Amino acid sequence: LPATRRLLITGGAGFIGANFVHHWHRAYPGDRLVILDALTYAGNLQNLESLLEEENIRFVQGDICDRPSLDSLLREEAIDTLVHFAAESHVDRSIFGPAAFVQTNVLGTFTLLEAFRDHWNEQQQPDHYRFHHVSTDEVYGSLGPNDPAFSETTPYAPNSPYSASKAGSDHLVRAYHHTYGLPTLITNCSNNYGPYQFPEKLIPLMCINILLGRPLPVYGDGQNVRDWLYVGDHCSALEAVLTRGIPGEVYNIGGNNEVKNLDLVQALCDLMDELAPQLPVRPSRNLITFVKDRPGHDRRYAIDATKIKAQLGWTPAETWQTGLRRTVEWYLAHPFWWQPLLSKKLTLPYTSAEFSD
Ligand code: NAD
Repeated sequence: LPATRRLLITGGAGFIGANFVHHWHRAYPGDRLVILDALTYAGNLQNLESLLEEENIRFVQGDICDRPSLDSLLREEAIDTLVHFAAESHVDRSIFGPAAFVQTNVLGTFTLLEAFRDHWNEQQQPDHYRFHHVSTDEVYGSLGPNDPAFSETTPYAPNSPYSASKAGSDHLVRAYHHTYGLPTLITNCSNNYGPYQFPEKLIPLMCINILLGRPLPVYGDGQNVRDWLYVGDHCSALEAVLTRGIPGEVYNIGGNNEVKNLDLVQALCDLMDELAPQLPVRPSRNLITFVKDRPGHDRRYAIDATKIKAQLGWTPAETWQTGLRRTVEWYLAHPFWWQPLLSKKLTLPYTSAEFSD
């Protein structure tokens, strides 16, 4: 095995991808990291900060659907490990404009698989090559209050155009292992939160709205349940899978932190009241406003992470309370990161849906 790896990280300027680049560079500073990102509204070079000056980190602006560019990048950089984060990731946007989701999530993943397969074949199918596809628990659909949590064998039942497009990409990755023997890995992870998350998503949106004294829109009755995982724990799970996972396998990643949306928003309000020096409205809970539910809103997601814990020895370091505190502290300390993004949010093609996972 080579002493250092050469990674192509798609979507590395987005929320989880950027956290992963920081994580991997800290853990393996000798590895070559090539970041490929189209810089859509969700991509932001500020997420990578000083890393772009590092000698063994390269950023390339490009689309995962662009096959000729992929071919030259894989060859020229002698990539052995592809970690695929690039996606359209916002459920509400998928309801209003599903086409981009099919294009990037399905066709983009297909294009990457084809390019990586040719590259792997050209190099005589080395054992250590990996294609790691980063996916979501939303492919499994919605749970009732007493259903067991999603495991790796739960049948797929995606309900939104977002989750359907991710399910399609998961199936393609699976098929490339079974048909061509491509050394793939798939991880399905629950809701992430933490630094650098685009403020259309629930936790950063709520933090920022509290700071600005704006209403905190909560869908329906606020009783929808999500499992929350601190993004740093997702990165350590991805590291465990990339370094010790078995090709062809699927691993579910979750925090064992099931929380109702309303409880989460209330906890955030209380944290902001405690940590923010000045707020236009106190207590922040007064800003909570119930809004019309999202169409087809999944009621509950929960992840059974027994496999990754038992087989790869991974466990999360944060509970949702400790992770939330770290996250609130980060948004309070980084107004220069999120303030320029507020104008981007206003360009959404809709106004009703305001928060999401
Ligand atoms: P994000 O929206 O913050 O980032 C996505 C990145 O992909 C952006 O930088 C964007 O510019 C880039 N991108 C989009 N289309 C592209 C294209 N055609 N070519 C190249 N780059 C493109 O998303 P995220 O929250 O960081 O999610 C990353 C991955 O993790 C996604 O695949 C998502 O499905 C998955 N995931 C996310 C969560 C979560 O809670 N956020 C949970 C589980 C899985």
